[in-house]
Amino acid sequence: MKVFNTLSQRLEDFVPLDGKRVRLYTCGPTVYNYAHIGNFRAYVFEDVLRRTLKYFGFEVLQVMNLTDVDDKTIRGARAGGKPLNVYTQTYKDAFFADLKTLNVEPAEHYPAATDHIPAMIAIIAALMAKGHAYRSDDGSVYFSVASFPAYGRLAHLDMAGLKPGARVAQDEYEKENVADFALWKAWDEEDGDVAWDSPWGRGRPGWHIECSAMSTQYLGETFDLHTGGVDNIFPHHEDEIAQSEAASGKPFVRYWMHCAHLMVDGRKMSKSLGNFYTLRDILGRGYTGRETRYVLAAGHYRQSLNFTFDSLNGARAALQRLDEFQARLADRAGSVAAAAALPSWAEETRPRFEGALADDLNVSGALGALFDLVHAGNKAMDAAQAAPAEAAAVRALLARFDGVLGFLAAPEAEVPAQALALLEQRQAARKAKNWAESDRIRNELATLGWIIQDTPQGAKLKRK
Ligand code: AMP
Ligand code: ZN
Repeated sequence: MKVFNTLSQRLEDFVPLDGKRVRLYTCGPTVYNYAHIGNFRAYVFEDVLRRTLKYFGFEVLQVMNLTDVDDKTIRGARAGGKPLNVYTQTYKDAFFADLKTLNVEPAEHYPAATDHIPAMIAIIAALMAKGHAYRSDDGSVYFSVASFPAYGRLAHLDMAGLKPGARVAQDEYEKENVADFALWKAWDEEDGDVAWDSPWGRGRPGWHIECSAMSTQYLGETFDLHTGGVDNIFPHHEDEIAQSEAASGKPFVRYWMHCAHLMVDGRKMSKSLGNFYTLRDILGRGYTGRETRYVLAAGHYRQSLNFTFDSLNGARAALQRLDEFQARLADRAGSVAAAAALPSWAEETRPRFEGALADDLNVSGALGALFDLVHAGNKAMDAAQAAPAEAAAVRALLARFDGVLGFLAAPEAEVPAQALALLEQRQAARKAKNWAESDRIRNELATLGWIIQDTPQGAKLKRK
């Protein structure tokens, strides 16, 4: 598999340090608000990456942190008049619910920053001991950028203009303001009761040290793959590299992958611009998690993606086409489960699908192969040229593909509970040979927008 490494700006063969085991760190949400679908573009990209690695036979150990203390969470908790942990818990819970709705596979670990303060203090102490960090007048601790000559390698910064001794206290800043950045922030009034003891006095960690500490604790000092959105490259990931490598004396991460932004009218979807939709907003307008996942996953991760409601409508149409094809295959396959060889019209699909994914996660290319299969398969079935065993083989292939895509199988949960209950009543009526009642329920479901499909696996509901 080839991946585009932000560090080298090149496509590289992906070879993990430890055979088939991949250690992956994915920067998680800052839990100060509901994540918007721009954030979820990053998490869906990382999910497709994880699933693709597994598809190709790798074993993935993924860590996604929860940033539950930083400038933004503290500001939010204060504005909301709540203790920090109560404030962030709401958004942690919402985040996991949203991941489920988007059919994102859980990571192996979700460490929260506030549970890992001692590990952060240990790295800062190591940096102090090695002369990479210093204490400022107010008791904060800063990383000395000048002490780390490799600084700027990831973001490809020109360091010529660096002003010696300049400092930046905020977690987020622009490339123009490259400066020594805060590792430990001395307590001030704005922090309220958010503070931990440290060798440098009471205070709290900077955002970047959180990820250095949590990644190292779960994945080791050197690991394979680290990802995020492109806005994470600077300063977050640049600062992570500086802290981690200066402290350990070892290379931090071998491959860095960053997804391009989800845009709205040509601008990055973001909280600060106010041009964002949460997943809840999208569901409230009648779209599903599956449709949203399709929109977020279908493009190439390194191309920016313009979000429109039309793209959700497009996803709905594409999924319907896939659903119809799968229903047709299921019909044709009947009870034939054992898969024979693939029919000639499906022979190219797998190498094309896999070739596209192995080429820096080209999901759009993989979907191209999939829709060509739908076209060829429909033609073959129109001409009655698909044997049941062949249809079964293609179904098995699609099930494999769905291990990566995560949107081919229509999740049961997307059918409202009311409709599922009606379906059950209809099954009971049929069992009792009460055909009139069964028909009545079928009509009631139809008025709710659902069609019953009798399949070898039992009755299923399909959107009208
Ligand atoms: P945050 O909660 O701000 O730390 O962001 C969480 C993740 O979402 C990070 O990986 C960001 O790079 C990513 N992200 C934020 N906005 C967007 C966007 N509009 N499109 C894609 N990814 C984004
Ligand atoms: Zn991070």
